[in-house]
Amino acid sequence: MMTSANVTWHEGAVGRMERWQSLGARGATLWFTGLPASGKSTVAAAVEARLVRDGRAAYRLDGDNLRHGVCGDLGFSPADREENVRRTAEVARLLADAGTIAIVSVVSPFAAGRAAARALHERDGLQFVEIFVNTPVEECIRRDPKGLYKRARAGELQGMTGVDAPYEAPVDPDVELTFGCDVGEAVERVLSALDPAPAAVRGTQPAR
Ligand code: ADP
Repeated sequence: MMTSANVTWHEGAVGRMERWQSLGARGATLWFTGLPASGKSTVAAAVEARLVRDGRAAYRLDGDNLRHGVCGDLGFSPADREENVRRTAEVARLLADAGTIAIVSVVSPFAAGRAAARALHERDGLQFVEIFVNTPVEECIRRDPKGLYKRARAGELQGMTGVDAPYEAPVDPDVELTFGCDVGEAVERVLSALDPAPAAVRGTQPAR
């Protein structure tokens, strides 16, 4: 773990369990990984909508969206991708600790980075669900909604995952969405892997 020099952790006055109980929340991270255009963002957005409409705090951390801000200084070199995943995992962990279901959709091509994201959560007692959106590269190339595969294959873009940069497929994901699975079915599969929220116990007073 990286820690700046000369800093001390400051405990708040309210702990995780009191926070979660009072809010009727249970934080967790749903981590979608897969090739560009495999369908991560589509399924993640549908999961988010379903959870929020069911009254659960859920918030999407979309790879492209994060690169508009917190990861906006990073490119696509292996080191920058690693840092992108590290920061995303840290933000997800904070959201999950706060009682929100963080829904991450980033290519996250390296197994080590995903393992580190999982370890960060599990060390902290937070549920981490890895979802492999396993769409064949030929189908991703056919979809190509942002035209990135086309540009990479024309040599206009370097370091594109699935073309000239590697993607290390998860060997033991918690959920695997294979090609042909429609979005509604994918949402059900993901939600069935998530721990249920406890009932809210509002006004809970901490033990004194
Ligand atoms: P990613 O976030 O992995 O880059 P997107 O969610 O943007 O991928 O999806 C890429 C394209 O694939 C979009 O045009 C989307 O409509 C389509 N798509 C996503 N999920 C499915 C699915 N389950 N079946 C068919 N098409 C899908």
